[in-house]
Amino acid sequence: ERQQLGRMRRLASRMASGEKIVLQANLELPAELPLIAQSGAAGIGLLRTEFLFINAETLPDEAAQYDIYAAIVSTMGADTTTIRVLDWGGEKQAEALARAGIAGRDVVNPALGLRGIRLLLEHPELLETQFSAILRAAAKGPVRVLLPMVTVASEIIAAREIYDRVARRLKRKGIDIGESLPPLGIMIETPAAALTAGVLAQYADFLAIGSNDLTMYLLAADRASSEVAALYNPLHPAVLRMIGDIVMAGLMERCPVSLCGEIASDTALTPLLIGLGCRSFSMSASAVPRVKQVIRSLDYDACRQLARRVLAETDAEGIHKQLKRFRTV
Ligand code: PEP
Ligand code: MG
Repeated sequence: ERQQLGRMRRLASRMASGEKIVLQANLELPAELPLIAQSGAAGIGLLRTEFLFINAETLPDEAAQYDIYAAIVSTMGADTTTIRVLDWGGEKQAEALARAGIAGRDVVNPALGLRGIRLLLEHPELLETQFSAILRAAAKGPVRVLLPMVTVASEIIAAREIYDRVARRLKRKGIDIGESLPPLGIMIETPAAALTAGVLAQYADFLAIGSNDLTMYLLAADRASSEVAALYNPLHPAVLRMIGDIVMAGLMERCPVSLCGEIASDTALTPLLIGLGCRSFSMSASAVPRVKQVIRSLDYDACRQLARRVLAETDAEGIHKQLKRFRTV
């Protein structure tokens, strides 16, 4: 079985019925980089940059950030690296940020407070530094940039203004930032963003569904709490309908959509997610060969039919049964 998974790296990520599915990897720590090459992933769909801040004594400056982004982008060669700007705040609090006077202070509901893009727009110097490092690294290879926790279009507009300004400044200084600006996309991980995905898609160059936070906010169940772990269920019909709707909204607006939450690694869900319209996934590198193996065995029409049956179910138990039945036929 190991050997078979090893072989997967060289095989196409294509369904038995012929459709191409994009499989990319999530990267949380630079140490995982060699795993990505081994996995056969077609690029990085989500580079979480929190590691740069997590144990840092001081905020990483532009040079320190550039060195790391440039090394990763160079290693990825012709494959795209999707770099998400800092998703801080909420329950995640870093010493260096606190010392710099940058931290969400809303302790009552931190997950609903100043986090992600909200924190960055409150402290634009943080965003400027990170954009500048990313844009310079983009001279080394294909890059995409991703904004976390978006809820309204004005956040994309404000971030893009900063993005364009930083790019102009670099060009003025004669610094090589590649030919065209890397696409600027957004995470769809709040119910507000999901329900208005079609509108947001007019301001964003691509959408990345963050099913971890989307499940949490939609079901009002903390993803980190063991007490509500049973309620935190991505098989809840509300979550699956929402994912299907986001994919359709992206399609209507001709805006590329990928899915990068934990469920992308779950092979029991692969046929359903494809049936809901997902054609691009980003997951932990270790999951890529297994998911590819499943994809190569799948028929697209069967996945569509599964999605139709699942959407007709009224609860997670019924959906779970549909998935189990599908696997055995
Ligand atoms: C998500 O929310 O699904 C996601 C991919 O982002 P993170 O897990 O880093 O919050
Ligand atoms: Mg998230």
